[in-house]
Formats: sequence, structure tokens, C-alpha cells
Amino acid sequence: MALDLRKELVIPVIPGDGIGPEVVAVTKKLIDAAVNASTAGYVSIRWQEVLAGEAAFNATGEWLPGSTLGDIRAKGVALKGPLTTPVGGGIRSLNVAIRQALDLYASVRPVRYFEGVPSPVKEPQRLNVVIFRENTEDVYKGLEWRCGSKEALGIMAFLKSAHGVELSQDSGIGLKPISESASKRLIRAALSHAVKKKLKSVTLVHKGNIMKFTEGAFRDWGYELARDEFPESVVSESDLRARGLGAVPDGMVLLNDRIADNMFQQILTRPDEYSVLATPNLNGDYLADACAAQVGGLGLAPGANMGDDVAVFEAVHGTAPKYAGKNMANPCSAMLSGAMMLEHLGYEPASKMVVEAVASALSEGVLTQDLARLAGTKSYGTVEFASEVMARLP
Ligand code: NAP
Repeated sequence: MALDLRKELVIPVIPGDGIGPEVVAVTKKLIDAAVNASTAGYVSIRWQEVLAGEAAFNATGEWLPGSTLGDIRAKGVALKGPLTTPVGGGIRSLNVAIRQALDLYASVRPVRYFEGVPSPVKEPQRLNVVIFRENTEDVYKGLEWRCGSKEALGIMAFLKSAHGVELSQDSGIGLKPISESASKRLIRAALSHAVKKKLKSVTLVHKGNIMKFTEGAFRDWGYELARDEFPESVVSESDLRARGLGAVPDGMVLLNDRIADNMFQQILTRPDEYSVLATPNLNGDYLADACAAQVGGLGLAPGANMGDDVAVFEAVHGTAPKYAGKNMANPCSAMLSGAMMLEHLGYEPASKMVVEAVASALSEGVLTQDLARLAGTKSYGTVEFASEVMARLP
């Protein structure tokens, strides 16, 4: 009897709110086609729709049903559209809630240039970085208290009595915890990625000159981790100096660090010197969008939120409500996030096909309105753009 090698992958999908359902629908089609083409039809995907956001609230009265988290946990992966942050309702952000519930501690954002995309800089092709941003603490911990509240006044009273620190009574208070364990697991993920992909460097981006025990500690823990866990594959700038080496030995990854404000100017003026950036939460938030702008904007930036056991892949943009239902959204960010998911699942050829088809369409001037208006060319609707991409699959 012939062996049946056909395989069905079950992938949970959150269509999302606003433009989410439109960009996710065309992304699913593209991924289906790429998987089919790259496996000669042996592998297919069953998309398991799970609810979150407005769709979940309308159906169940809950913004983030426990069953959604359970299904994603069980499969270890999901494709997600953007979600509206509910106003009121006790949830600060659904996206943050999903990341915290599933312990998706690394926000991973590759930023590269695609030929044909209008950019505000002269040589956008010089930027090709992957940003690993810590996703669970720092300002994401959400520890802050309103000016004049009982909690803010209580903390100020404690600081004065226990530490002699006097703050203006009309202050709001925020806490910025950065732990060794969370910093190290994020930096470990960044270093492992650089080693696996044979990239030239990992840069720790921090504001340790001012915040020594949070951001400065992030940097120090990074160097300590590299020494303890990557002695054969990672070398720091100070190790190079100590060993009298003029250049990074072949096959090793350079670990260095940059103060955040300096990093912002260097990523503009010397982008090709950087390949992986590892950052605490807030620095990475700013840096990832600034880098995305350099290569053409948020419509093109893919992302993943990754933990040890679960990874959720999603476009970095939000629900862009003004374009919802109008066939005007750029689906590239969602498509490229889908490509990242395929690579994560071990379907590299399918992933490559998606990226190459998107790149080919963009380079031939097939642009959605967000880019066409900058290039001064004809614009394609979401569905028409997706058809052009599909037509470029092998
Ligand atoms: P946004 O939805 O990203 O949209 C801001 C602007 O970016 C849009 O008005 C549009 O610019 C442009 N844009 C974003 N994505 C685009 C796409 N795919 N195609 C074309 N243009 C695109 O940010 P927002 O307005 O600040 O947030 C709206 C809602 O989304 C909020 O509820 C927010 O909380 C939520 N959000 C969710 C996520 C997530 O789920 N991961 C992330 C961010 C925000 P122009 O107006 O210039 O055309």
C-alpha cells in the first residue's frame, strides 16, 4: 500500500478589527498557495478562526475569550490581525494582554528595503536589521499611578520617609522594572538568531548612561550572558581589544552596545553597520517604527511576538479604521508576517516564495495607495495587489 504523505497544518487565525480581516484574508490565500506550490500539494493549511477584539465581544461579551488563548497555546502558533484597543472595559491593550498571557517575551521585527518602494532616505537599501524588543516589562508592565491618586501619594510618602527622596506632589508616578531573567532571555533569543543566521553583529540599545540599574543593567547582563553561554560564537568589542584583535574572527558574531540617542542617529547615518538590535521595551518601540519609516512605512513592516513555546505573527500596524472595508489597505506587512510564520514552522521554501513574490510586485511598481501616493503612480486595491503577488508565485 502506498504511503500517504499528505499533511494538514492547523493554524489558529485572529482576523482582527478594522483593516485586519481584509489583509488577513489575502494573506491566508497567499500562504495557502505558497505552501501548496512548495510541497507539490502534499501540505495544506486548515485555518482555525479564533476570536478576539470586537468580533469576540460581539459574539461572546468578552474581548479576549480564554478559548482563544487555549487554542493558540495548543497549536503553538497563530496568525493575527490588528485589534482595536477597547476604550474602557478594564483592558489596557488586548495586544499586550495576549503577549502577557502567552508569555511572548520577544517582539521580533525584521526591517529591510524592497526595491521600488518610495522612501524618505537616499539609500534605504543600506538598512537591513532585525529588532528584538523585550515584550513583557519596562513600560509594558503598566505600573503607573495618576497624579493625586492615593497610590501616587502613598508611594511619594514612602520614598520620602524611607529614602529621603522628595518629589513634587503634583507628579504622576510610573515604575520601570527591568529584570535580569527577562533581559537575558530576550538577549539570548537575539544572539541565537544572529549565530544561526550568521549575521555580523548584535547591538544592545540602552539608556544606561542615565538609568544605570535598569537600562545599564540590561547592557551588562547582555555581555555576561554572551560570555557565559556563547563563548565560542560571540565576541564583544572589549574582548577584541583585550585580545589585541583588529577584526572579528571568522564565523563569530560581534556583540556591542549603543546608547539609544546615538543609535537613532547611527541607524540613519551608518545603517549598514548594524544587523541585530536587542532592546528593552520602550527603546525598541520607538526604534522599530523609525526603522520601518526609513524603508517605506508601517504598511511594509512584518512582526512576530515569540515565546519559548508559542509564537504569534502579526503586522505591526494597527486597525487603520479609516480604510476599513474600503479595499485600500496595504497587505504587505501581514503577508511578510505570514512568511516569517512559514519559516518558523520549517517551511523555508514557501516563506521565500512569499517574500520574493511581494518583492517582485513592488519592484514592478505594483503599489497600494499608501505607497502609490508617494511615488505618484497608479494605486492598486488590497485585493488587486494580492492578485498581482499571487501571479508572481512560481
Ligand atoms: P494604525 O492603525 O497603524 O494606523 C495609522 C495610520 O497608518 C493609518 O491612518 C494609515 O496612514 C497608516 N496605515 C497603517 N497600516 C496601514 C496599511 N496596512 N495600509 C495603509 N496604511 C496604513 O495606528 P492607529 O491609528 O494609531 O491605531 C488604530 C487602532 O489600532 C487603535 O485602536 C490601536 O490601539 C490599534 N493598534 C493595534 C495594533 C495591533 O493589533 N498590533 C498595533 C497598533 C495599533 P494614513 O492615514 O497616512 O494613510
